[in-house]
Amino acid sequence: MKLIVTGGAGFIGSAVVRQAVRAGHEVVNLDALTYAACLDNVAEVADAPNYTFVEADIRDRAAMDRLFAAHAPDAIMHLAAESHVDRSIDGPGTFIDTNITGTYTLLEAARAWWVGAGRPEGFRFHHISTDEVFGSLGQTGQFTEVTPYDPRSPYSASKAASDHLVRAWHETYGLPVVLTNCSNNYGPYHFPEKLIPVIILNALAGKALPIYGDGSNIRDWLYVEDHADALLTVVQRGQVGRSYNIGGENERSNLELVKTLCAILDEKRPKASGSYADQITFVTDRPGHDARYAIDPTRIREELGWRPSVTVEQGLALTVDWYLANEPWWRALQDRKGVGERLGVKA
Ligand code: NAD
Repeated sequence: MKLIVTGGAGFIGSAVVRQAVRAGHEVVNLDALTYAACLDNVAEVADAPNYTFVEADIRDRAAMDRLFAAHAPDAIMHLAAESHVDRSIDGPGTFIDTNITGTYTLLEAARAWWVGAGRPEGFRFHHISTDEVFGSLGQTGQFTEVTPYDPRSPYSASKAASDHLVRAWHETYGLPVVLTNCSNNYGPYHFPEKLIPVIILNALAGKALPIYGDGSNIRDWLYVEDHADALLTVVQRGQVGRSYNIGGENERSNLELVKTLCAILDEKRPKASGSYADQITFVTDRPGHDARYAIDPTRIREELGWRPSVTVEQGLALTVDWYLANEPWWRALQDRKGVGERLGVKA
């Protein structure tokens, strides 16, 4: 396929780009290169003949029109977004601009190009979203594709709004869309402000391992390479107008997750004495911190035959290996604005 991937210099987008290029698809990576981007994430495919990089902002309509005209894609996979909940609490404006207005601009550019091209049936606008749009669960239950939306942070509210726009462009204008809502990702190239890299890097630096609140918040952890595989499955075989929930079938509390990471690090890079778990420190909770997310992945499993390939223990071991082997990558990002600071508590 000829694919445009937005946000392909970010964490998940770059995994999609790498897999898609390796699989022989023709890939155009469109990214504005914000603080969260790193072109090293796609260095392994940068010279491939089936790969092109375009630096542009999804809010720039003229640039998006040029992008569609130049590349006439079979599909666009839209991952570009502001993605860090803590940053959305301190500064919601860019989340509204990029996640809502940016998605609107991209939808309009896609629609104009699609109509102009004679409404090709095979075209897909694949919108990548999060399980956070569904709100917070109690101890039981799982999110399905028909769970009512109940976003509770500026980030999840902006993603929910973008999901609604994508559905509306399908219902109203007939744009052939597919949507996916996935759980928390982790893995190689995860930006060092998110929980798992923070824990690995602080552990290695002998710093405190910060756990928000009492660490009881539960997430369904999904290895990023599995997510990229699911996305490439959905963009090729997903039913038009439909959404698919993607989960890792790996629910863990934050405290359990951090203890598992410490045990892996104790084995792979033992400290002179004691365990990395000794560095665990409980800190002020995130305002409005959702208690639990859990995905019911029945639809994607039964309709498309997809399921995750690793358990969270296997995926975390692969992730720790990657961070141990790629110190220059994460050291370079630790100087970026806000990284290493506690964000999201000003409110
Ligand atoms: P990320 O922050 O690592 O990467 C986002 C990328 O988008 C960056 O490369 C950035 O430069 C680019 N970008 C931001 N604003 C842009 C703009 N205006 N124009 C063009 N490019 C822009 O994010 P991620 O973790 O890779 O998440 C990718 C997508 O997946 C997002 O839509 C996010 O909501 C969704 N998602 C993420 C997770 C997760 O656990 N990380 C879970 C569920 C859904």
